[in-house]
Amino acid sequence: MPSYVSHLESAVDGTRFDFGKLHATHEGRPLWVAYDLKEARKRVKRDELTLLAPDMWRYAPFLPTGEQVISLGEVMTPLLPCPRLAVHLGVKNLYIKDESRLPTGSFKARGMAVAITMACGLGATTVALPTQGNAGGAAAAYAARAGLECVVFMPADAPEVNRVEAALFGAKVYLVDGLIDECGAMVREGAAQRGWYDLSTLREPYRLEGKKTMGYELAEQLGWRLPDVILYPTGGGTGLIGMWKAFQELTELGWLETRHWPRMFACQSTGCAPLVSAYENGERHASPPENVHTVAAGLRVPHGIGDFMILDAVRASGGSAMAAAEDGLVSWMHLVTELEGISLCPEAAACVGVLETALAEGRVRRDETIVIFNTAAAQKYIEVLRTEIPKLPAGGVDWAEFD
Ligand SMILES: *Cc1c(COP(=O)(O)O)cnc(C)c1O
Repeated sequence: MPSYVSHLESAVDGTRFDFGKLHATHEGRPLWVAYDLKEARKRVKRDELTLLAPDMWRYAPFLPTGEQVISLGEVMTPLLPCPRLAVHLGVKNLYIKDESRLPTGSFKARGMAVAITMACGLGATTVALPTQGNAGGAAAAYAARAGLECVVFMPADAPEVNRVEAALFGAKVYLVDGLIDECGAMVREGAAQRGWYDLSTLREPYRLEGKKTMGYELAEQLGWRLPDVILYPTGGGTGLIGMWKAFQELTELGWLETRHWPRMFACQSTGCAPLVSAYENGERHASPPENVHTVAAGLRVPHGIGDFMILDAVRASGGSAMAAAEDGLVSWMHLVTELEGISLCPEAAACVGVLETALAEGRVRRDETIVIFNTAAAQKYIEVLRTEIPKLPAGGVDWAEFD
């Protein structure tokens, strides 16, 4: 199926750029990919598209694609009803969209599949990125799949599994004694001097498009209706911004059964909550917090260049930006893993914490349809899991436990 991409557009002032050339940012801020949705509306049939293979490429008319798609099998992720967790929280309709099933165990695969596809199409030979975690593994895997070199810069405190998985997939991995901003500076140096293709969050426009497919998929799975509330663990924000873009595109395509859009809740941890502060202070840009500490590595983003895009979407939706207590994350993980058998990552645990507060404060009603995004698998967080090992019995069965 042909893609209906028309051009690229600056998110700050609407300046247009041709598609098919290398473009990164405009005035240091992100670019949107724009589509000819009027034409697509005439030619692409919603109910034919749903007969295609159940993966994210069924939405290819609304994705930028090169000559050859680089894929590891980006399956449609299940939207799992959570009846036991719902009873525990006192709500009626609760779902978790389980993104942990994607290649390399996180939703970062969606973004990298499209970004690496485009990097190949634009003639890149080496891709590079700064990352706090899962994006490094995903980039390394898709670069390997495409036959590209990959260079990954991580702060030295990035999760162990993320460090080794990127190396396992053949990337050159450098640990940097500093924050993610310093890693980003090194990538930009390599881009300027060596021609590396910069995959940094929102510094190329295509990862966002891949993550947008979460919104298309969710709508399709709910019979082309949207839930009342979406809770999304927000770091750099591409997932939340991407979904909001998806809802706009679906509306322009005339594919939604109702005009009802969800309230978007950007969920962070008290250990790093720049968006929450900006939201509460009525600001459009976030300031980096002083001390950043959270086990939810995906939320360890003190300064994202798409902050205003996240805050615009949250406000336009009537949702909110809220932080869950850092020291509660592990217990919210347990709650979901034990009650529902879903491998919940600490980032998504923040959504559970935010939901508890939002219910108590009446910001979410108990009869609403609520969707939480589980952005990665719990198994990727060995530092968190290791704290559980001492609690396991060392040997022998204590039969009395079963009485
Ligand atoms: C990257 C990441 C996030 C944050 O995603 P954004 O869309 O960039 O805000 C959340 N959870 C996990 C597990 C991540 O790896």
